[in-house]
Amino acid sequence: MLRNIFRGAPMEIYLDNAATTKPCKLAVDAVIHTAENAYGNPSSLHRKGFISEKKINVVRDEIADLLMCRPEEIYFTSGATESNNIAIMAGVVARRRAGNHIIISAIEHPSVIECTEHLKILGYQVSVIYPSETGEFRVDDFAKAVTPQTALVSCMLVNNEVGTILPIIEIARQVKNINEKVVVHCDAVQAFLKMPIKLRGCSIDILSFSAHKVGGFKGVGGLYIRREVKVLPLIHGGAQQNGMRPGTEPVELIAALGAVVNNKATNIAKQYEIYRELNLYLREKLEQIPSISINSTLNDAPYIINFSVQGIRSEIMLHFLAQSDIFVSSGSACSKGKENYVLSALGKSKQQSDTAIRVSFCEDTTKEMLDILTQQICLGIDSLAKTK
Ligand code: PMP
Repeated sequence: MLRNIFRGAPMEIYLDNAATTKPCKLAVDAVIHTAENAYGNPSSLHRKGFISEKKINVVRDEIADLLMCRPEEIYFTSGATESNNIAIMAGVVARRRAGNHIIISAIEHPSVIECTEHLKILGYQVSVIYPSETGEFRVDDFAKAVTPQTALVSCMLVNNEVGTILPIIEIARQVKNINEKVVVHCDAVQAFLKMPIKLRGCSIDILSFSAHKVGGFKGVGGLYIRREVKVLPLIHGGAQQNGMRPGTEPVELIAALGAVVNNKATNIAKQYEIYRELNLYLREKLEQIPSISINSTLNDAPYIINFSVQGIRSEIMLHFLAQSDIFVSSGSACSKGKENYVLSALGKSKQQSDTAIRVSFCEDTTKEMLDILTQQICLGIDSLAKTK
């Protein structure tokens, strides 16, 4: 196996942070500390239970501060797939009388799209909004799709494959101007702790986030539900989290998420600038390789960059890079093997889609890593082309 020599030592270059991140040290420490000290069931009436409950409430307060909402509007879930399911499935059931029409963007995560596919079987109508020819989502297109029957609009903030930023704040404002009963859901997984999200004074009603995309653990995420918005629970059981999301809370994982929030909340703007610089650096290098075309634009979130390598299928390049311990993605891990519907919705050809590579950064990403990445891509282009 080829090994990367990075700063004189063999080293992995992990650039698949939109799929998941390596849990940060603070999160690992928080899990261990909580498991050893706050292992009580948060619903138990004795001191051990009280300690665990308190821990969860502290994290809830921290997330509410971060998102500028009220603590009682934050619910913990098993991750964003569950959050999106609650938002959409349980959101529309609670609004049966409001109507049976849903609007989504064409590049939503499968956990949104598949919910709407299921709802179609149950008699709901779904309008899918595509971007303009220049790849932008127009607020107006969402607004025009609103009817008196529209119950829910679901639109992500940052797309997970390309980094497209959608104008959800303005979409929410305008659709509510047309029909105030519409509930607006935002899948903010790829934006949470990476760009500022301020819910106070904004028209988003429900927002999903996940811990493992930002240095926390898999198996925990959350949901903001505005206090005034009615959403029925999707699963039924105990009285935890006001019955909205029953089940014993994973205190350890929640504590780890809290550690991450605490650590990153005040550094979002600064880190965004670092990502922008890394993005421009990588872009410049990729632009010098004739067979590469970059699918992400300069308006997209800087921590995701998607590009196509002409003539080399994504998986082939991905495995070539992995041989030297460089880890990237050939598209979203959640749509493994399926056609890349995001790239095709953004007007990319099948050939571009079949040869697409996604690189996604975290705080540990450096220019040196991107140098090695581009060197290896060039090597890959040379040697893989010869073996064809
Ligand atoms: N939405 C988006 C935009 C995502 O990128 C992901 C993770 N790929 C999810 C939802 C699902 O999150 P989780 O893995 O926490 O279920």
